[in-house]
Amino acid sequence: MKISRQFTVFGSAIFCVVVFSLYLMLDHLQLDRIKNPINEERLQNGQLVILQDKIDHLERLLAENNKIIANIRDSVTNLRKSVNNDKGPLEAKNLSQGLVDLLPFAPIWVLIPSEDCQFSAQTYSKAADEVQMLDVYDMLSFDNPDGGVWKQGFDISYEENEWDQEPLQVVVVPHSHNDPGWLKTFDDYYRDQTQHILNNMVVKLHEDERRKMIWSEISYFSKWWNNIDIQKKDAVKKLIERGQLEMATGGWVMPDEANTHYFALIDQLLEGHQWLERNLGVKPKTAWAVDPFGHSPTQAYLFKQAGLSNMLIQRVHYSIKKHFATQKTLEFFWRQNWDQESSTDILCHMMPFYSYDVPHTCGPDPKICCQFDFKRLPGGRISCPWRIPPQVITSDNVQQRAHMLLDQYRKKSKLFMSKVVLAPLGDDFRYTDAQEWDQQFNNYQKLFDYMNSHPELNVQAQFGTISDYFEILRKVTGMDQAGMNKGVSPFPVLSGDFFTYADRDDHYWSGYFTSRPFYKRMDRMLESHLRAAEILYSLTLANIKMFGKPSNYPAVENYKLLTEARRNLGLFQHHDAITGTGKDWVVVDYGTRYIAFLLPLPVVVHCCRTILVSGDIENEWQLRFLVSFPMNVFIMPSFRSVVVYNPIEQARSSVISIYVTTPHIRVLTAQGRPVIAQITAVWEHFTQASTEVSFVAHVPPLGLAVYQMSEGVELHTELAHYMFLKKGGHVSVTGAEQFRVAIPQETVPVSVENPHLQLFVSSTTGLLETLKLKENGLKHSIKVDFVWYGTTSNKDKSGAYLFLPDGEAKKYSPSRPPVIRVTKGPVFSEVTTTFTHITHTLRLYNIQGVDGQAVEICNTVDIRGEFNQEIAMRITSDINSMNRFFTDLNGFQVQPRRTMSKLPLQANFYPMTSMAYLEDSNRRLTLLTAQSLGAASLKSGQLEVIMDRRLNQDDNRGLGQGVLDNKITANSFRLLLEPRNSAQEAALILHRKGFDCGFSSRNTGLLCSTTRGKVILFRQSYNTFTPVSLSLMYESSSTPKHQEISLKPMEICTYRIQLG
Ligand SMILES: [Zn+2]
Repeated sequence: MKISRQFTVFGSAIFCVVVFSLYLMLDHLQLDRIKNPINEERLQNGQLVILQDKIDHLERLLAENNKIIANIRDSVTNLRKSVNNDKGPLEAKNLSQGLVDLLPFAPIWVLIPSEDCQFSAQTYSKAADEVQMLDVYDMLSFDNPDGGVWKQGFDISYEENEWDQEPLQVVVVPHSHNDPGWLKTFDDYYRDQTQHILNNMVVKLHEDERRKMIWSEISYFSKWWNNIDIQKKDAVKKLIERGQLEMATGGWVMPDEANTHYFALIDQLLEGHQWLERNLGVKPKTAWAVDPFGHSPTQAYLFKQAGLSNMLIQRVHYSIKKHFATQKTLEFFWRQNWDQESSTDILCHMMPFYSYDVPHTCGPDPKICCQFDFKRLPGGRISCPWRIPPQVITSDNVQQRAHMLLDQYRKKSKLFMSKVVLAPLGDDFRYTDAQEWDQQFNNYQKLFDYMNSHPELNVQAQFGTISDYFEILRKVTGMDQAGMNKGVSPFPVLSGDFFTYADRDDHYWSGYFTSRPFYKRMDRMLESHLRAAEILYSLTLANIKMFGKPSNYPAVENYKLLTEARRNLGLFQHHDAITGTGKDWVVVDYGTRYIAFLLPLPVVVHCCRTILVSGDIENEWQLRFLVSFPMNVFIMPSFRSVVVYNPIEQARSSVISIYVTTPHIRVLTAQGRPVIAQITAVWEHFTQASTEVSFVAHVPPLGLAVYQMSEGVELHTELAHYMFLKKGGHVSVTGAEQFRVAIPQETVPVSVENPHLQLFVSSTTGLLETLKLKENGLKHSIKVDFVWYGTTSNKDKSGAYLFLPDGEAKKYSPSRPPVIRVTKGPVFSEVTTTFTHITHTLRLYNIQGVDGQAVEICNTVDIRGEFNQEIAMRITSDINSMNRFFTDLNGFQVQPRRTMSKLPLQANFYPMTSMAYLEDSNRRLTLLTAQSLGAASLKSGQLEVIMDRRLNQDDNRGLGQGVLDNKITANSFRLLLEPRNSAQEAALILHRKGFDCGFSSRNTGLLCSTTRGKVILFRQSYNTFTPVSLSLMYESSSTPKHQEISLKPMEICTYRIQLG
């Protein structure tokens, strides 16, 4: 069986649909309804000590090896009998040929047609009413004047008769914000609050059809649904049918928008929506995101693509809210930066005030609005901090109270274009008991009844869902309900994002971009495992469909494991989970859930791999315990096979490293041809070694490759060479007797290279100083440093959310000189430098393709002994980037950034999910990251990334603790320097001749037709096209730059053309 070819063709054909079709393919299995007692039991077995041990265990594994992601897909089992053929064009080569041996066949480079490169070259014409957030940032002064009762805003006034013609419509939207983990774990919140909220909801909404409620976290809703009887389920369905209960957004959680990768964002949305469709037949229309700490256009795009028409956001910088309120542009169509039309537009409402609680939602004055939060009635557990309590509404006070509230509604409506006002009514975990429902709903109903029965007030007030609000808004502004009907829309278009969020003063929420980096790293690892397992599972099902089902393939069991994994990944995307802003024990709970679902994934991978490689599971299923996961600790008694799985849609050549018990290893292709391998020491402590074998595996897209290993002497296996350096100190190396180890006494230059790059490293600090691109032979100054940030001495200090540094960073200067270890070998070379707080590795792979073109950087960070410190890696280059740099949003798109001196230092940090880069006219320097972290470019040519934070105090955002549960964390990066393609330029000189047609043209005429002086250029043949003076010295301002050129008779025109 030609396994790899089959997979290449097969994989490519179905790749586009395979991931998400998983849901459809398995819909009929109805697995949602099947409970898994074993896994539930495991999740419930929550003794903290055991859990902490598990986390610590994973931490140790992580810290030891930064190659886990690459290795994690390996499956180790005996495949000797099952592998008959290999696709491998892999040929054994003579070692004497040096590095070229590692590139035994040239990869097939596919040239990109120039049409495919036009995306980044095109310029976007902005509509006249389009708001670009970068321009808003340029324009605003970010001062913070006292705005009066609306502290961050301004005084709002109105005329009494403003609503005479068109009454004010007030939609009060009851909501309860249920965090799936924050101060309590998901299960504890459910037990103590959420289940009571939902139980009371069924009773209390049925009491009065005018009552409404919205719900958004399906993780909680589905748990509750599984615990209620059929009568209650029917009652819920009735509430939905009657429009009293709306499922808003319908995601598994309300995800963070800064640190999340778009795969996980889609995953959690899909999981929630599929649950809703299967169990309630509901299709959400409106997204509700009141608590994520800053908002990303990626999320807006995903909502739009998921079929939602409207969305609401809340946590936006107070200066931006104020600016938009002044302009009445708090409602807008959010459009993606790249969209030249309007296909990505989604109608978005930005809440204008400080918070989503009742004091900040009825109008501008929190002292007044708090009096309309009837949970705060005297005698209750909470009160109003403004010290004026609410009053129960009676016939005596209803007039006065209604006027007071209406005044707030009217003022709020003055910030918007329409005469419809939205007033959310809720807070965190609200409506837990029956009394609270009665307090809120009865008192408000009395106020509404009064307002609505007094026509002179010109107001119509009611409870509504969030979609009710948008429905009325669309109606009064003449828009259709689903689409946008832009022709009559009064709303502007906005592009850009809402990072970095500040809620007051200089309190920028850029700390959470890095808080708890261990878990941010773990999230991305598990996301990649899940994705890999899901693809493999889908391929296996397709394979079974094509070739018949083996007798005992556990399709249902595997699907259950994947569902459980997907839901736990979804849970971790919550805005207090991946953000690192939960209590210590909540963080441990998330970690435990991750481990609980991580462990079964290799079983899925193993089953699928077995089916796909050997076509049957009969003889292999019992070997599942041999699957090594997540580390490839490989005991080598005799002959073994290694299956390498490539879960991406591109062919890959990657270095695979496996622990071995002997340096005498042969690595062979499945056909038995030897492969070049490198034996490296694995340094338990930085100078003590055991062994590891590394080789380059070539794997087709979505394919599997099999390599065999056996013990024995092999010419193609080479031991790495080592050199140790320590300025002014002695190094003793133990446990590496079989390796050639040099310990020079005097300073020697330190340099490593591969076919693409050469790195020059300081022989005293062990840090990168210069990078040479072999492509053009040019050397570039690229220096790596480490720096510390402390926290301010002011009252408010850095915590899990906030970054409040004590000024510019201070250089990390280790108390003793670092030990520098240089490794050289045929597969990879590296420099590892060990400081007190960081083990820093720069590695170059001797490999063609992307893996060889970048420097792999791994920083294993340990700041557990520090007090209020944050550690960052700073890269300083000679790139003239000025104040511009770029960070990605959710691994999906790139957002330009500008570092602004008018903003405090902490405001200039942005989330970096997968990359950040700097560029000038000649080069681009990209830092790719394997985990989400906060990044900035504080000076031209500089890029820095915060790697861990240890903070001894709370930052007053409700968490009630500092961040002191730091773990040893391996941060993994790649540093890529790319010279810009110098586009080829040509001069086009056109001359239109002047003809006299008054003479006979017989025998002497033209051999082709004329075009009346018109020339059309084909867009594909050039990038830019500029009219210039005859000798190319002056640019012409008059001639339009379009594709059709028109010349007058006798005219000579010149154009400067950049060829594509
Ligand atoms: Zn929340």
